[in-house]
Amino acid sequence: MTFAYDTEATLVDMAKLINTAANGGDQLSTPVHLDEFLDMIEFTGPRQHSEEDLAAVRNLRPRLRSAWIASEDEAVELVNAILREAQALPQLDKHDHWDYHLHAATPDAPVGVRLAAEAAMALVDVIREKELDRLQLCSAQGCDAVLVDLSRNRSKRFCDTGNCANRTHVAAYRARKHATARSA
Ligand SMILES: [Zn+2]
Ligand SMILES: [Zn+2]
Repeated sequence: MTFAYDTEATLVDMAKLINTAANGGDQLSTPVHLDEFLDMIEFTGPRQHSEEDLAAVRNLRPRLRSAWIASEDEAVELVNAILREAQALPQLDKHDHWDYHLHAATPDAPVGVRLAAEAAMALVDVIREKELDRLQLCSAQGCDAVLVDLSRNRSKRFCDTGNCANRTHVAAYRARKHATARSA
């Protein structure tokens, strides 16, 4: 394991959130979509089901995405800004099937603030471990989705949004076959 389990879970959820806007799509266009997304990542705490919450979470996406292409100093600036805005108050908590993990904002803060603060705390770990290169863009041609490479040998290259790994392998196979046919 590269990071604490809740940090890893949060990083994966961040990538999922960012990728709701990948490749020109948008899977977060209504408060219902937001509810479904929060259920999917098992994000607890109060929700308003409001347009304001939706707008805050939508605005968070490009901000978090910037961490994937940031220098260390830029990532630090982002993290510190989010923690300041959220007036983060890290607390360990244990509920449902989760063992002790960090809650970074006050429980009654809006969902966008809580998501942002939790993401920032996960990035705190990544930065302190000098592991920012775990945050990668998908290697598939034409895909702008992000991924978190938590593999031991840093071998993850493709996002989980669709078929990128498969698509790339098929294209490589076709190119090889084509090259063989030409040289024959
Ligand atoms: Zn929790
Ligand atoms: Zn991809």
